[in-house]
Amino acid sequence: MGLLIRQGEIVTATERYVADLYADDGRVLAIGPDLEQRSAKDQMLDAAGRFVFPGFVDPHVHLALPVGGTVSADDFETGTASGVAGGTTTIVDFVVPDRGQPLIEALRAWRERAKSSVADYTFHMGISGWNERTAGEMRAVTVEHGIPSFKVLMAYKGTLMMDDGELYQVMKQAARLGAVVLVHAENGDAVAALQQELRARGDLGPEFHPVSRPSCLEGEATHRALVLAKLHGTEVYIVHMSCREAVEALARARAAGERCYGETCPQYLLLDDTVFAKPDFEAAAYVCSPPIRPAGCGHHEALWQGLAGGVLDAVGTDHCPFAMEQKRLGRDDFTRIPGGLPGIEDRLQLLYTYGVCAGHFDLQRMVALGSTNPARIFGLYPRKGEIAVGSDADLVLYDPGGTSVRSAQTHHSRCDRNPYEGFAVKGRPTHVIVNGRVCWADGRLDVERGAGRFLARAPRPTPGSLPTRAIEMGRIG
Ligand code: MN
Ligand code: MN
Repeated sequence: MGLLIRQGEIVTATERYVADLYADDGRVLAIGPDLEQRSAKDQMLDAAGRFVFPGFVDPHVHLALPVGGTVSADDFETGTASGVAGGTTTIVDFVVPDRGQPLIEALRAWRERAKSSVADYTFHMGISGWNERTAGEMRAVTVEHGIPSFKVLMAYKGTLMMDDGELYQVMKQAARLGAVVLVHAENGDAVAALQQELRARGDLGPEFHPVSRPSCLEGEATHRALVLAKLHGTEVYIVHMSCREAVEALARARAAGERCYGETCPQYLLLDDTVFAKPDFEAAAYVCSPPIRPAGCGHHEALWQGLAGGVLDAVGTDHCPFAMEQKRLGRDDFTRIPGGLPGIEDRLQLLYTYGVCAGHFDLQRMVALGSTNPARIFGLYPRKGEIAVGSDADLVLYDPGGTSVRSAQTHHSRCDRNPYEGFAVKGRPTHVIVNGRVCWADGRLDVERGAGRFLARAPRPTPGSLPTRAIEMGRIG
């Protein structure tokens, strides 16, 4: 059964025009004026007065993630379903191997968990150490398993943190393979020392979480990651940038022509540290790393300007929800609060309302930030992130009219809190189409457990080998 979408305004990262669109077998087959039904069974949707966006791609989510004795509250089924209800039709999750665990073994576990996904997915491969097998494992992950992106953490000392020597090795091997390195950039040694000092003083409430992770430590680590990437010519993607100092570091690297990308998330654009004043441990619901920053220090402004001006490339969510019951694991010590928030379902409406309608950027830039750029950077384009003949039929019909309110009462995540509780949003996705099938229609979810497919990706041959050769020849500038 085909699907004919009539008279919508198709909005891609580069174009806006009114047209009909016909999809079948999960692909876009035709775009043009006055398309005909091809079969009497074809479904028709009248999209007059609505936007038609490519399905949004969330490059940063953690579903069914084991953290400190608990597991993030959405599994692959509920997490991807929550995404679909908000216009996200492709996710990239992170495989997180234990230190020393073979990468392929961890990947197997994640592929098993992800089988319940209702929308397409792929993974970034986490690396939390370096041994004599790691370079070969990275090659196998990239070449044989279709995962040309690796994630390293410069924070979380004693568990997943990579030191600079390890980071050096990952950057070098990724450049050889044509893979992208994603970096969580915070100075983990300094954060650990600050946590220890706060603990010694008895400052253990959730309001001390942001105190232990100041923005200058994110700025420093961002710069350090960019330098190590530059050394090898590695393509690097800084995840969840939260502050002015980090944006400034990235802007300098980009101005110097380095191949680096930056992501931020709605929580860093729209919330400030007044959330930590909430009573009754409610502040714990906002604990994530890097922390939500204070207003009045230029962080929000730097992030919005970065998105509008092209220094930042993507808005992901870092969707990693924990119910209040789980957050209570850190009742007596903020360092034990599982870090993370939901957001996969809120991103599109928040970007439309607070990005486009507020005048920070236009609709096409919104599509670039939430769909096309993540698809391009991570090797999913033009299958995802585009509306063109041959692309997957992942589409969002968006009615710009009307206002509603985000709330944990109405979202589809299993989380019992929504960080944007009470936020007014303009417009809504009326229909979300996943691989040619209408999975969200006028507030009703009709998803299919297990319909999502693993997306294998190809590495991107890059000039990365050139600087690496220059280093070998002792000629780096
Ligand atoms: Mn992180
Ligand atoms: Mn994350």
